[in-house]
Amino acid sequence: MSRILVIEDEFAMRHALEDLLTSQGHRVITAADGAIGLERARTERPDLVLLDVMLPKVDGFTLAAELRKTGCKVPILLLTARGGVDDRVTGLDAGADDYLAKPFDPQELLARVRALLRRVERAGALVERVRLGEVDVDFIRQTARRGVETLHLTPKEFAMLRMLVEARGGVVTREQFLDAIWGYNAFPTTRTVDTHMAGLRAKVEEDPAQPRHLLTVHGTGYRLVGDSRPGEAGGEGERVDGA
Ligand code: CA
Repeated sequence: MSRILVIEDEFAMRHALEDLLTSQGHRVITAADGAIGLERARTERPDLVLLDVMLPKVDGFTLAAELRKTGCKVPILLLTARGGVDDRVTGLDAGADDYLAKPFDPQELLARVRALLRRVERAGALVERVRLGEVDVDFIRQTARRGVETLHLTPKEFAMLRMLVEARGGVVTREQFLDAIWGYNAFPTTRTVDTHMAGLRAKVEEDPAQPRHLLTVHGTGYRLVGDSRPGEAGGEGERVDGA
């Protein structure tokens, strides 16, 4: 099951897409204009966005470009009513991953959705480990060690760290942590995130009072900074991912 955001102003089309995707076991979030769509894409962290081009308030091209500008990597399938080459090129340039011209065959839409979701799964599965200073974290085996010393991270701490690695240096907000890790049915506060981050820092950082890797972004959330020592890989830690 994946979480799919459908941004479409046309009532009948929006509901047809919702029914179609729900029938395949997906959870569907909808937005009827570009402004709400942009907000939901940011706050709900969907696995895929179906994006209409002609939308009130914020059009599909602008929306896709806005998401990419802020580092959001969610796959976007653009639904265009116009079949012109220019439109498709503009859409792909704006950051869409694929496009489909209306009217479309539902089976073709589902095939493209499956293809995009497979791509995400592959990319996600490749985030296997990260190295932060002397600390090695293996997300597959859920182990962390500093040299020979084993660090006992909780599942929530592993999940938080993984989200930060996947954000590639971008900010992960407290709300995003809560939505992804604690879920919608729990009632933690944003303070919960800070408490768990303090726990993670205590284990991973050499000096938790002056963190070098798990940095606070004032009023927003956290971001991850890796090492950039000569001869060592990356400014984002030595991550293995699908980039
Ligand atoms: Ca439309």
